[in-house]
Amino acid sequence: MNFLTDLIQKPAPSARVNKKGRGIETKSPQEIDIMRQAGKIVATVLKEISELVQPGMTTADLDAHAEQRIRAMGATPSFKGYHGFPASICASINNEVVHGIPNPRKVIHRGDVLKVDTGAYYQGFHGDSCITIAVGEVTPAAAKLIQVAEAAMYCGIAQVKAGNYLLDIAGAIEDHIKANGFKVVEDYTGHGVGRNLHEEPSVFNYRTHELPNAKLRAGMTLAIEPIVNAGSKHTRVLTDRWTVVTIDRALSAQFEHTVLVTETGYEILTDRTQV
Ligand code: MG
Ligand code: MG
Repeated sequence: MNFLTDLIQKPAPSARVNKKGRGIETKSPQEIDIMRQAGKIVATVLKEISELVQPGMTTADLDAHAEQRIRAMGATPSFKGYHGFPASICASINNEVVHGIPNPRKVIHRGDVLKVDTGAYYQGFHGDSCITIAVGEVTPAAAKLIQVAEAAMYCGIAQVKAGNYLLDIAGAIEDHIKANGFKVVEDYTGHGVGRNLHEEPSVFNYRTHELPNAKLRAGMTLAIEPIVNAGSKHTRVLTDRWTVVTIDRALSAQFEHTVLVTETGYEILTDRTQV
């Protein structure tokens, strides 16, 4: 078991985080306003990519669009240069789980299950979101996997509310995925997001005692990002040292939103329906 979030290998959850949520930053109203704008930039880019992607394009084409649009909106790509990652999006196809490196030789085909993850750094704060796109017509099994991954993310988000706990999110995600016969990837987690792309806490997608089950407080901002595999939950990293694939070559899907904890529930900061 390792503790990896997207684009970073993390140590075990910090002892600074306790059950009351101490060690997890809360953002001020002014900071939240900036994060809304960062989230809007991310949402805009992902919406555009979902609309423009066509069989025959390459993942480098999508990356170029994302970088150009992030910069045009006054932000910088959160991922580019992060721990040496060379691009503005992660583009992971079919059995690739996360962290696929955009490549001009990587052609997108009809029927592909395409994950696009991106982040924008705007006025000192990050937004982070991922979508899975069915390119053209996909198999019914692939369509179900994608649908379950998105629904699992929303099951987790529905648990976000001041006074609830991290494991309320984790449990809701895990239950939805298992009830549909799929596997929760355990090698990667969600995370706090804000001044840093990855900050405390680790947001697990399954029940675990590996971290303090911290209480959520209004003003926390979390990236909730379950990864769902059709076959084995296990993954491995390719020799490019980034691309993560399923060990059995089965399909994988992921969705992610940056979410603000409020007193009464949540606000999705990367909501594509608002752009
Ligand atoms: Mg993330
Ligand atoms: Mg992400």
